[in-house]
Amino acid sequence: MAALNILVIGAGMGGLTAALALQQAGHRVSVVDRVHELRPVGAAISVWSNGVKVLSRLGLGEAVERVSGDMRHMRYATQYGEPLTEFSLAPLFEAVGQRACPIARAELQRLLLDAVGERHVRLGAACSDFDSDEEGVTAYFEDGSRRTADLLVVADGTHSRLREKVLGQAVARRYCGYVNWNVRVPASEDLAPLDHWDQYVGDHQRVSLMPMSGDAANPEFYCFFDVPLPPGTISDPTRYRDELREHFAGWAEPVQRLIERFDPAQMARVEIHDIEPLSHLVGQRAAILGDAAHGMAPDLGQGGCQAMEDGWVLARVLENAEGDVAAALKAYDEARVERVGEIVSRARKRAETTHGADPAATRAWYAELAEEDGSSIMGGIEKTIRGGPLG
Ligand SMILES: Cc1cc2nc3c(=O)[nH]c(=O)nc-3n(C[C@H](O)[C@H](O)[C@H](O)COP(=O)(O)OP(=O)(O)OC[C@H]3O[C@@H](n4cnc5c(N)ncnc54)[C@H](O)[C@@H]3O)c2cc1C
Repeated sequence: MAALNILVIGAGMGGLTAALALQQAGHRVSVVDRVHELRPVGAAISVWSNGVKVLSRLGLGEAVERVSGDMRHMRYATQYGEPLTEFSLAPLFEAVGQRACPIARAELQRLLLDAVGERHVRLGAACSDFDSDEEGVTAYFEDGSRRTADLLVVADGTHSRLREKVLGQAVARRYCGYVNWNVRVPASEDLAPLDHWDQYVGDHQRVSLMPMSGDAANPEFYCFFDVPLPPGTISDPTRYRDELREHFAGWAEPVQRLIERFDPAQMARVEIHDIEPLSHLVGQRAAILGDAAHGMAPDLGQGGCQAMEDGWVLARVLENAEGDVAAALKAYDEARVERVGEIVSRARKRAETTHGADPAATRAWYAELAEEDGSSIMGGIEKTIRGGPLG
């Protein structure tokens, strides 16, 4: 197909993955972001096998595996450290043909940015609006400049300013009922085995430690703490340690050590929100992707992975439509609406179960974990992975 001029709004993992996939399909792609320096918020993410498959097809598989954590086992314990379940993740990774890659957000961003090429990314460019017609799109920026393109990719995150224009309707974010603190700490055996994803659950709260750095000399854990709290609960980094000491008083020794060990200045604290599944993801000459399209609770670890799938699919539908942008956008919509909507809903349900929206359901889940041999948890993850565009 003829090369298109494509403008991507947002240089997060969604926008950059899409840009790379579209470049590799032969299009001329520019990415803009409103920030002057790209500094991802949050410590790390776990890129599950469906996301890694996309990155591999874009040529980043080896690089991503090299800098990601070697997560081989999963273990749940009660808040007091009593084992609930422990199993190897090998059967899952063998079944889907790809391991998961927990990776520092900064590393992932660097790899994507290098692959796209910094010269194609313009920072300090806040897009305020756009117009489109059958021929193309004009994007307007806060500094008074404008850019034209054949296609606009809206990847401006969960607070998306442009989503409403694409959809013709307002989209409200919904609080998922809990706050998440996340941080990286040097990995050490007195916190968790270095190849384990350990989680402690109790009182509708959760603590998680996941191996995230492939650097054998300086291994790190990606750690987070979840606590159900009323929305708008005020805090600042000087209080994080005290808050967590309070919320997790009496929890197992490794949790206490972790609370004393992290650097609050490096910690991110997020009130978790999602958006209602959307009924369409495209407008005239515009497609939405990533969190702008499907902001979701992080409880399935799929927000970023779905953003990667979006970018891959967008490049493929444009390829298949041979120049017919409207047909490509229709195909993108058909391929993604149901897939991402289902994952947003499941992530929401998982968040509610984990964080006590219905205390009886949370108690039942704790009881299930005590009976779990890994097959049910891995079966769920496998289903999510296999539902992706690369199987
Ligand atoms: C606590 C937590 C844990 C998570 N864990 C995982 C996980 O383990 N695995 C996983 O796959 N996902 C996870 N996620 C989800 C993942 O972080 C997101 O899905 C992903 O970062 C979304 O990327 P994005 O590019 O769509 O949006 P963003 O990363 O938000 O990027 C949007 C970009 O758009 C720019 N922008 C915004 N407005 C404008 C504008 N008007 N003009 C120009 N630029 C603009 C912003 O500056 C930003 O750089 C987690 C999320 C949270 C909160």
